[in-house]
Amino acid sequence: MSTIGWIGIGNMGARMCGNLVNAGFTVQGYDLNPDAVAAAAEHGVRPASSVADAVNDADVVFTMLPKGRHVLSVFDGPDGIWAHADKSTLLVDSSTIDIATCRVLHERSREQGFHFVDAPVSGGISGAADGTLAFMLGGGAEDKARASRFIEPMSGKIFDAGEATMGIAAKIANNMMLCIDMLANSEGSQLAEQLGLDPKVFWEIASASSGRSWAQQTWYPVPGIIPTSAADNNFDATFTVDLARKDVGLALEAGKDAGINLPAAGLVSGQFDRLIDEGLSAKDCILIAKYVNPDESLRGWTPDSDTDDADDADDADTDAA
Ligand code: NAD
Repeated sequence: MSTIGWIGIGNMGARMCGNLVNAGFTVQGYDLNPDAVAAAAEHGVRPASSVADAVNDADVVFTMLPKGRHVLSVFDGPDGIWAHADKSTLLVDSSTIDIATCRVLHERSREQGFHFVDAPVSGGISGAADGTLAFMLGGGAEDKARASRFIEPMSGKIFDAGEATMGIAAKIANNMMLCIDMLANSEGSQLAEQLGLDPKVFWEIASASSGRSWAQQTWYPVPGIIPTSAADNNFDATFTVDLARKDVGLALEAGKDAGINLPAAGLVSGQFDRLIDEGLSAKDCILIAKYVNPDESLRGWTPDSDTDDADDADDADTDAA
C-alpha cells in the first residue's frame, strides 16, 4: 500500500488523515504542535519528527496549513519539502491560500522537477470527519488523475476545476459565498427568534424553503438544533474567525484585481475584524451572529476569560517553521 506524507494535522488535517488510515494507507504526519502529532498517532498516523521525516519514501505529500506563507515556508528552505522529497513524490496542497502563492508553488515545483496539484476542500470538519469533502483540483491532467486516487477516501466529490491555480480560484469564490451566507444565517436566525418563532420549527421551515444553505444546514448559530453548530459548544471553533477573515480577504483581493464590486464580502469582513479586535479570533466564525442584537448577547455564547489570540499562535507557528 502507498505511503502518504501529511503536514498540518489541525482541525481538518487530523480528520482527513483518519480516513486515509482507515483506507489502509500508511500516513506519516508532521505538525509544529507536538500535541497534534500525538493525537494523530493515537488514530494510526505514524508520527514524523520533521518535514523531511514526513516526506521520506512518500508516494504523495499533502499540506493542510493555515495560510499561504505557512505553506511556502514548509515547501521552501533547507528543511522543506522541495529539499527533501524524492522527485517522483506527487505534491498536493489542500490549504486555502492566495492565488499568487499557489502560482509560485506550481512554478517552483515544476522548475525543480516535481509535479504539484492545488486541491483545496470544502465541507468543514464534519465533511473531513465523514470523508465527504468536495475537492477542487487545479493542475496538469495526469497529476490530477494521480492525486485523485489518494483523495478518494477523503472526498464525496472530486472536481476538475482546470489548469494550475483553478482549484484555489474555485475555493476562494465558494468561500466568499459561504461567508455571505453566514451573515444571512446570523440575521435570519435572530430575526426569527425576535418574531417569536420556535427556533427548531423555523430551522425546519428554512430547511425546506428558500432560506436553505450549507451554512444553515451545518453552522446555524442557535443552540440545540443541529449537532454540528458551534452554538452548542460556546462557539469553540470548527472554523476560526481568523481563517474565515483570511478567506474573505482572499476574495476581496481577487475581486480588486478583477475590477469588480463585492460589497457583501466587505461587510462580513468588517464583522470578522470586529471579533478579531475583541480578541476572539480563535473562536468560531459564526459568532458574528452576536452583532445582530444591539447588546451583543447571543444564546449559546458566554464570553470566556481565556480568549486567546490566534494571530499570536499563528505568528509563533511561522517563527518556529
Ligand atoms: P488549523 O489551524 O486547525 O490547523 C493547521 C495546523 O497546521 C495546526 O495544527 C498548526 O500547528 C499546523 N502548522 C502551522 N504551521 C505549520 C508548519 N510550518 N509546519 C507544520 N505544521 C504547521 O486549521 P484547519 O481548520 O485545519 O485549516 C487548515 C486549512 O484548511 C486552512 O487553509 C483552512 O482555511 C482550510 N479549510 C478549513 C476548513 C474548516 O472548516 N476548518 C474547511 C475547509 C478548508
